[in-house]
Amino acid sequence: MKKTLLLFAALLALLCTSCEKVYTSESFFAMDTYISIKADGADSALLEKIKNEVYADEIGFSRTFSTGEIYAVNSTPHGGKVSEETAELLSRSLEISSATGGAFSPTMGTLVDLWDIKNENPRVPDESEISNVLADCNASDIELSGNTVIKKNPDTKIDLGGIAKGYSAGKCIELLKEGGVENALISFGGSIACLGNAEGRADGWNIGIKNPYNTDEIIGSVRISDCYLSVSGAYERYFEVDSKRYHHIIDPKTGYPASSDIESSAVISTDGTLTDALSTALFVLGKEKALELYRSGALDFEAVLVLNDGSICVTDGLADIFDFNTDASYKDGNKLVYNSTK
Ligand code: AMP
Ligand code: MG
Repeated sequence: MKKTLLLFAALLALLCTSCEKVYTSESFFAMDTYISIKADGADSALLEKIKNEVYADEIGFSRTFSTGEIYAVNSTPHGGKVSEETAELLSRSLEISSATGGAFSPTMGTLVDLWDIKNENPRVPDESEISNVLADCNASDIELSGNTVIKKNPDTKIDLGGIAKGYSAGKCIELLKEGGVENALISFGGSIACLGNAEGRADGWNIGIKNPYNTDEIIGSVRISDCYLSVSGAYERYFEVDSKRYHHIIDPKTGYPASSDIESSAVISTDGTLTDALSTALFVLGKEKALELYRSGALDFEAVLVLNDGSICVTDGLADIFDFNTDASYKDGNKLVYNSTK
């Protein structure tokens, strides 16, 4: 009798697990950030396949992996042939560069090297060093002819650090969908992709946006589904000299860390590549130009901008879904203030 009961209990447990959705997860370090994937019904083989794709992207799109295609192009004076995928990402980068008036630029390699923010002992370069390398950072010095990259300036170096994570996140989502997954959340540090719904919910995923003035708290959250969210902020990577912060997002016009009125920019769209590139671009552009770009309708996106006057600006399409954290702190004990552009 005891045996039959035990068998019955085991069968019941088995039945219950098979009718429940099982969220599997994977996390690893690549592209200089922690990556995590939570997916509804993805088996370990699928997660492994995705992980390997991300490792391949890390090598292919990196400035520093000596076996990658971007490294190879950067090392040659005149460019060369790349894979179709790299050519497409580069072409997209150039398009977004032109659509943002050059605020996003995929040719910042020499400047990023000069500032070398990740160095253990970074230093502020001299003005003359900056103006020298600035001349090698023109996006117009890179052209594509089919899958061949043409460098018009031999010293120009491509850097896809502001776009590759979003692109790769989009690829992960496509692989999950091909594997039959309908609900997933992928995080590449500041670039997030959401598919379907969170466990046990039918209204998407609730994504918190960090407060750039106090990264232990959030400024608010958005409930989103089937889209991407990328955040760029001065707080992500920086060093300080004489209490002045030098961060990793460079204004292509000046060669110095961007100093607009934006402290952090979060972008949401249905295209991971665009989302990532735009979060970087809006940060450089500042509020007025960012909103001009939004209102022009040239690119389809929404944004949450934390401004350095202590206010938060949210684009019209998010006004009803942005849940503001009224406790979010600014400076000197003050609170951040929420303004909708509506
Ligand atoms: P993100 O964190 O997506 O804003 O990207 C920042 C990274 O993009 C930096 O670490 C650089 O590698 C690169 N980057 C810096 N400034 C720019 C810029 N103005 N346009 C494009 N990429 C940039
Ligand atoms: Mg970016």
